Amino acid sequence: MSRNSQLFERALQTIPGGVNSPVRAFRSVGGSPRFIERAQGPYMWDAEGTRYIDYVGSWGPAILGHAHPEVIRAVQEAAVNGLSFGAPTEAEIEIAEAIVARIPSIEKVRLVSSGTEATMTAIRLARGATGRTKIVKFEGCYHGHADSLLVKAGSGMLTFGNPTSAGVPAEFIQHTMVLDYNRLEAAEAAFKQYGSEIACVIIEPIAGNMNLVKPLPGFLQGLRDLCTQYGALLIFDEVMTGFRVGPQGVQGLTGVTPDLTTLAKVIGGGMPVGAFGGRADIMEHIAPIGNVYQAGTLSGNPVAVAAGLVTLKLLSEPGFYERLGEQTRKLAEGLAERARAAGVAVCSDHVGGMFGLYFSEAVPHTFDEVSLANVERFKRFFHAMLIKGIYFAPSAFEAGFVSAAHDDATIQTTLDAAEEVFASLK
Ligand SMILES: *Cc1c(COP(=O)(O)O)cnc(C)c1O
Repeated sequence: MSRNSQLFERALQTIPGGVNSPVRAFRSVGGSPRFIERAQGPYMWDAEGTRYIDYVGSWGPAILGHAHPEVIRAVQEAAVNGLSFGAPTEAEIEIAEAIVARIPSIEKVRLVSSGTEATMTAIRLARGATGRTKIVKFEGCYHGHADSLLVKAGSGMLTFGNPTSAGVPAEFIQHTMVLDYNRLEAAEAAFKQYGSEIACVIIEPIAGNMNLVKPLPGFLQGLRDLCTQYGALLIFDEVMTGFRVGPQGVQGLTGVTPDLTTLAKVIGGGMPVGAFGGRADIMEHIAPIGNVYQAGTLSGNPVAVAAGLVTLKLLSEPGFYERLGEQTRKLAEGLAERARAAGVAVCSDHVGGMFGLYFSEAVPHTFDEVSLANVERFKRFFHAMLIKGIYFAPSAFEAGFVSAAHDDATIQTTLDAAEEVFASLK
């Protein structure tokens, strides 16, 4: 048995499913997950010493490449001064100032330790600040695993949803409406019927949890207008897209301004950091000055904040996003070209350091279109690429990530491998 398989067998004895987060288990592609020993730049090495070019990047955070020397140094320097104090630090002010300086819609920001905490609290805050109960989310968007967000659409357009997890009572999600992404008419109808009860609309302004799905022109602005008209808050969940698609997230690319924004992933540089922020008048509803409660023993952890701060600093270097976007474009367009040449129905899209690879005829714009992907063909692609040392997300429905460490040679190696693999898929 291979060492990865041995470790997986051993993990299964003490960890449910052998993993600490479900998609790591390879259940949708089959086989044993690779147990990673170390990572550097665009590469990861597994427990058998096999090297992979990594396009998962820890599911988003590794935008500088793995183990960037300046990030590692910042973590080491912070660690020797103590790991956690439960009292404020100057570094927390610095990262708050760095976020506020970069994202104009964020006037005040609170740090937490994960994206789930950020979105869960942003919703509580929206409800507390508006005094309303109902929330709107979109099918295919993931906002972490808080109870009220683990919902899929019900049968009718305006019915409230059904839980996607056991253990979530129907009562906990009865105030969550689930609408179709990129169908503004559905949001208009929802507001027409329930407008005065809707506290907030939460959305991934570019969706990265149903592969990569971009908003159609006018969709985000339409949501902005509806929220403004009906007095609801617009929450952009930029946990994935924040500092990933550009220096100001999707709001910087589209010019659509949310009331609240959630961040995580990149802002921790690989350490556990999340944040929610926005208009000062809304943020002042949070304890200790307001009556919306939120807290965290490790919130603003000094070692995590040190990694985040130096990451944000390095992202601000001139030309960073132009270069990252160019490398991502070469990869995404190159993959689609290789597939076309082999006569395999695969297309791609990209934005900043994110890409979508779709095993279907056309770039999708809705959850239903995303669902058309040829999952069987993707599985074969995934395993064939893995054998060639290229690590894509182990699911046909995840976005991919490119880092600043993915140079031309790395991308060329990937495209050469893909050319052979696509030919074998025909
Ligand atoms: C990853 C993700 C989350 C959840 O963040 P965790 O840190 O895993 O809790 C929330 N929203 C979006 C858009 C994400 O991509």
